[in-house]
This record gives sequence, structure tokens and C-alpha cells, in this order.
Amino acid sequence: MATKLKSVNVVTIGVGLAGSILGKELAASGLKVVGLERGSMRDTVPDFQSPNMHDELRFAVRKGLMQDNVKEAITARNNVNETALPMRRWDSFLPGTGVGGASVHWNGQTFRFQVADFISRSYHEQKYGKKFIDPELRIQDWGVTYDDLEKHFDRFEYLCGTSGKAGNIKGKIQPGGNPYEGWRSREYPTPPMKEPYFAALFGKAARELGYKTFPQPSSNLSQPYVNPEGLAMNACVFCGFCERFACEHYAKSSPQTMILPLALKNPNYELRTGCQVLKINLDSTKKKATGVTYVDSAGREFEQPADLVLVTAFAVNNVRLLLLSGIGQPYDPQTEKGVVGRNYAYQTMSSAQVFYDENVNINPFMASGANGTMIDDFGGESFDHGPHKFIGGAYVGSIMTNGRPIEFHPTPPGTPAWGLEWKKAVAKHYNHTVALNIHGSSSSSRWNYLDLDPTYKDAWGLPLLRMTFDFPDNDIRMAKFVTEKTKKIGEAMGGKTVVATARQKPWNTTVYQTTHTTGGTVMGNDPSTSVVNRYLQSWDVPNVFVIGASNFPQNAAYNPTGTVGALIYWCLDALKEKYLKKPGPLV
Ligand SMILES: Cc1cc2nc3c(=O)[nH]c(=O)nc-3n(C[C@H](O)[C@H](O)[C@H](O)COP(=O)(O)OP(=O)(O)OC[C@H]3O[C@@H](n4cnc5c(N)ncnc54)[C@H](O)[C@@H]3O)c2cc1C
Ligand code: SF4
Repeated sequence: MATKLKSVNVVTIGVGLAGSILGKELAASGLKVVGLERGSMRDTVPDFQSPNMHDELRFAVRKGLMQDNVKEAITARNNVNETALPMRRWDSFLPGTGVGGASVHWNGQTFRFQVADFISRSYHEQKYGKKFIDPELRIQDWGVTYDDLEKHFDRFEYLCGTSGKAGNIKGKIQPGGNPYEGWRSREYPTPPMKEPYFAALFGKAARELGYKTFPQPSSNLSQPYVNPEGLAMNACVFCGFCERFACEHYAKSSPQTMILPLALKNPNYELRTGCQVLKINLDSTKKKATGVTYVDSAGREFEQPADLVLVTAFAVNNVRLLLLSGIGQPYDPQTEKGVVGRNYAYQTMSSAQVFYDENVNINPFMASGANGTMIDDFGGESFDHGPHKFIGGAYVGSIMTNGRPIEFHPTPPGTPAWGLEWKKAVAKHYNHTVALNIHGSSSSSRWNYLDLDPTYKDAWGLPLLRMTFDFPDNDIRMAKFVTEKTKKIGEAMGGKTVVATARQKPWNTTVYQTTHTTGGTVMGNDPSTSVVNRYLQSWDVPNVFVIGASNFPQNAAYNPTGTVGALIYWCLDALKEKYLKKPGPLV
């Protein structure tokens, strides 16, 4: 029997990126906010300090900062004819847990989606005709436009202190930036990071081939910075322990460095850790949430009543919470009825490696999570798709994030996988290899979706989330095209051997790709194809808002968090300017 607690104005389910920003802002506007986080409290001092943090075995190999998949796994399969099995090791993607969420151990690569990404269906139909889009795909418009979001992108980047070079300020193309990006109102808050040697090799070759290079937009900061909230951050020292690790130097933007301390200082805000939210409670009409039920770390069950519930639990967890709570009709791919779980998408990652002679020294250990040189000439909107049989695209760059001893050992094809010859090859190539990233879009399709697993349960007896996914043929064609172009850049880089690998089917859960899982609580203007309206408000239960990459109707070529940040502020504006003044459906 759950203990009923005193009612509050707002509950956030999860205190990661979205939960921290929204919690801080709503508490500052005078509301009583409770942040419920399943993981533990942690902060730069003492939790993220060395030598504890620079432990590759614990954090990169054994995934020490990630969701506990003994308690709560996800089941996966490639298609509806298979039986899904639980992922008991995180490999393909790495959901986080604990205060700060995955944005503690993210890389900091901070992109904006392109203008056309937000109007994907209408853009492609208008430009190429309805028949151009593969009938398997279910791409759709977002219900917001890039213009709606621009000031919110800007606000998020200034919160982070993102380091970069603008490519388009108010419609004027800027030398040195990404000419294919949407317009921005001003320059990045801090200048780009210094260009590493591997990136310079890529940049030179790419420019010689006529491509337009620009520096990776990075929330590993290039210089000390005080954000508009008054919080100070440091410059990155290229420690090489960024992705999968927390930053000990206050140099990576995370809730801990850029916003959370202000929420914690506010008496209107209460953070409760070790609190696993099981479901959102509804009243008898099923049209109003009354709060949430959670279990604390001692196993006690509580009911926390609230006027407003914000679901900020990370993309896949947002979908599961809605399914467990009976909010919105679950999607059925056979009938295409229902919406929750619809349009699950991922990221289509391909790669290339350039092996040099021993006179070219790369020093891969001197790296950050988000530093490199790239091109966007193959982004979804950047080139004419007319002659090709696919939509979407990829950015290409050299962004080497580490040279850590256990997992970084590039070897050319033909090298044995173990033994003396393998060791000799690792020693030979460790310091003389450049990796190229091909970071591709992922189109939503009819048969890729999320639902509740019929067999497997979590530690609290609730069904696990089931993921049904494989790469649509459209995306495999895109990956092949961009990988071939990348190979040519690799060959122009002057190495000895170039190995390029385009993404193939089937999706493999045992190989790391990205944690950029999207969709499942899609936003839009049509309740028959979306879960939340353009303000991220549930169509079915208007005092529930869902915020995160689960709102994306399909995934673009870029890392998602810049766009998640813009959606967070867009939703905040809607809450403050519309919903709180007159609670009820906003559309
Ligand atoms: C290794 C890695 C590298 C990445 N690199 C990049 C990058 O370079 N660029 C980029 O754009 N993106 C990157 N990402 C993605 C980025 O981290 C996410 O987009 C971002 O953290 C999403 O914010 P969020 O608030 O939706 O989720 P999170 O920040 O993960 O926060 C969700 C929180 O909710 C909590 N929670 C979940 N379920 C419950 C529950 N039932 N009860 C209570 N609490 C719950 C979780 O514990 C977590 O703290 C990376 C991710 C990973 C893992
Ligand atoms: S690479 Fe830079 S930002 Fe990343 S953890 Fe190290 S010091 Fe921090």
C-alpha cells in the first residue's frame, strides 16, 4: 500500500538534462517542484574526480554510469517474427542513470538539426514528389519549425557555452562555419576548440576535394566561460576520458555544471534520489493525471500527487512510462492504429579508417569528446537527392575521442584477432591511424516501434520495453553512398590503407553505435499520428508533458541533444506563457 504524500505543483520523472532545466525554471517561477530520480546524487566533487573517474574498465567496458540492466533491461529483436530477448549488457546504446542522466557521460557534440528536418514529409514531397519516398517509411512533420525553435537553440547553446563557428548568421553565410546549417541569431558563445592533427589531415583533404569544412560544435569548452545563469565552467584539457565518463574539470556542459546547482539552492525545489517511478496515476476519467507512484531505495512505495507531471526520463524510458501508465493508445504495426511507440528510429553510423606509416603521429590519447573537423555536404538538405534513391544523409568528420588502452586498438584487415601478431599490429598502428565518422540519419518506418514485452519483467514486476528495429533499406542506401564519398576523402588524406565500412543490416545490439534513440512519443499536429502536440503536451492527458528525443518523428543526421535542448526551452515557454495561465489542452 503506497503512502500518500503532500501534493506539489510539478513532478519531473528523472533529473537528467530535461528534468534539471525544467525543474530549475519552474521552481524559479514560484512553483513547488519535486524531481524524482531513480539513481543516486553525484557531483563533480567528489564523485567525478581522478583517479576514480579515469577507470576505463569500470566506466567504458563495464558501463559503470549506465542504467542498471539487471533491474531494468530492454528487450530487442530485428523484426516482428522474432522473439525479443533482454539486453543484459549495454553495447549498442548506453542509457544513463543518476542525477544528471546521460548528459553526465555524453560527448558534448552539440548540433542543430537542419531547417528541412522539421518538415521532413512536406519538404521531400514538395521537392522530389510523393513517389520519391520509400513506401516503407513513415516520416512526418514535427508540428514546429526551425524558425519556432531558433531562439531556444540559442538559449541552450549559451547555457552550455558551446564552442563553435557559426556558418549562417541571420541568413549571411560565414566563412569557416557550416554553410548548410539553419540561420542562427548570433555566433556561438565560445570559439571552436583547437584543431587536432587527425582533424587537420581530414580537413585538408576534404577542402582539396571541394568540400566545406568546419569545426565540431562542442560542449567541451574551448575556454573558461560563465553562462547566463552565472555558473562558471573551465576549458577542456583533452583528458581522453569523456564519452562514457563524467568530467572532473567542470569543462563539459552537464546539469551539474550548467544548471542544477541553482535548482538545489531554491527552497521551492526538492530532489529525491533512489526513487524509481513506476507509473503516472490517472483519475477515473483517464483524462487527468493525479501524480505518480514510485518506490524508494528501501523498497517503500509512495504516491506523490502533483498538478503537472513532466516525463523527462530519457527517450526510451519516456515511452515505457506512458505505456505502463495507459496514456495514449499503443501502436500496432499490423493495423497502424495507435501512437505510443510509433516512429522509433536510431542513427545510421558508418565508419572509415586511414592507416598511415609510422612517420605520421596522431597521439589519439590527447582527445576530447567533441573535437574534430567535419563536412555537412552530405547532410539531408545539403545536396540534390534527385539522382539517388534515398532521403536523408550524414555528416562526415574526423572526431577521435580517445586512445584508451583497453578498447582503442585499430588494426588493418587481415590482422589476427588475438595473439602475438595482433599485439604487434596494435603496437604498429596505435599512434598512426585516423578514424573517420559517418553520422547518418534514421528514417522512421512502419515496422520499427516500441511496445511492452509480453514475457520479460523488471525488478518491480513490470513489463520491460520491447524494441523492434532494423535499418530501413532507404538508410542502408544512404549509408553506402556517403561511405563511398568518405572513402575518397580518406584516400586523399595520404595514408597507406583506407578501410571504409558502410552500415549493414541487421541492427546488432552488441556493437556500440550511438545512444541517439528517438521516437515513440512523437510530436505533431495530428493526434492520429502523434502522442504529444506541438507543445509536447499529451493529447490524451493535458497535465502530462513528455520531453526528450522520444518526441522526434524521425532522426536527422546530427547528434540529438542540441535539438532536445531547444525543445526543452520551447516547452518551458509554452508552460509558462500558456498552460500555467490557463491549464487545459493547448491545441
Ligand atoms: C555515451 C553517450 C554519448 C553521447 N554523446 C552525445 C553527443 O555527443 N551529442 C548529443 O547530442 N547527444 C549525446 N548523447 C545523448 C545525450 O546524452 C542525451 O540526448 C541527453 O542526455 C538526453 O537528455 P534527457 O533529459 O532526455 O535524458 P537523461 O539526461 O538521460 O535523463 C533522464 C533521467 O531520468 C532518469 N529516469 C529514467 N527512468 C526513470 C524512472 N522510472 N524513475 C525515475 N527516474 C528515471 C534517469 O536515471 C536519468 O537520470 C550521448 C549519450 C551517451 C550515452
Ligand atoms: S575531454 Fe575535456 S570535457 Fe571531456 S572529460 Fe576530459 S576535460 Fe572534461
